[in-house]
Amino acid sequence: MYNNIVILTGAGISAESGISTFRDSGGLWANYRVEDVATPEGFDRNPDLVHNFYNKRRSELASVRPNEAHIALVALELNIKGSVLVVTQNVDDLHERAGSQNLLHMHGELLKVRCERCGEVIRTHESFNKDSVCQSCKRSGGLRPDIVWFGELPKYMDEISFALAGCDLFISIGTSGAVYPAAGFVQVARGAGAHTVELNLERSEGASLFHERIYGKATEVVPKYVKELLM
Ligand code: NAD
Repeated sequence: MYNNIVILTGAGISAESGISTFRDSGGLWANYRVEDVATPEGFDRNPDLVHNFYNKRRSELASVRPNEAHIALVALELNIKGSVLVVTQNVDDLHERAGSQNLLHMHGELLKVRCERCGEVIRTHESFNKDSVCQSCKRSGGLRPDIVWFGELPKYMDEISFALAGCDLFISIGTSGAVYPAAGFVQVARGAGAHTVELNLERSEGASLFHERIYGKATEVVPKYVKELLM
């Protein structure tokens, strides 16, 4: 029935795998200020604090697994006749570990660091500090998490805009709708004539912009919604 599906995911899809969402009280983020660990200025002020924050989150990936919601999106990609693009705001690797193929990490990836001296992006499970040496240019002090921080431009915006302009179904999963430009994708998709659906634990900030809204845990509502799409 649908030929071009774009799915936006946020921290809520990974919550039941055991990764804290941004807004979880008591989660990893509760002990840090966003300005300190998720801005370029925070990194300039205290690179070791920021490296430690992402080192912890990178090592946490070893103890979590994709859940039924990640897996359902793979089933959709494999079994629907049209195309499925997953655009994730998440920096974890659970979509790719579940098996998603057509996937864009618009906010970067925990398992990548970038050298600001030579531009090399390295995929890694290791930990870093402000003196770590780039394996490409052999210089120290230039490595940073390849994460899009507040005030920086998201990645793949051309590909995402192109996909949104051509989609006939847009599904938003587990995102609070508070972080732009992702929060504005629903309006772009609507403008393109797509049917728009929100699957979330609770109403997001932009809930009224969606044609259809289904609330519940991602591991319950996503597999159910995918099953209906595939019927
Ligand atoms: P958010 O924390 O702002 O919102 C999470 C949303 O998920 C909320 O609306 C919440 O109601 C919903 N949610 C929580 N548990 C859920 C569940 N079990 N099932 C379904 N929905 C559930 O996260 P966001 O909207 O993704 O934006 C915050 C920013 O923080 C993003 O830029 C993202 O890069 C970053 N972030 C990423 C991760 C990750 O990689 N897993 C984790 C935390 C934050």
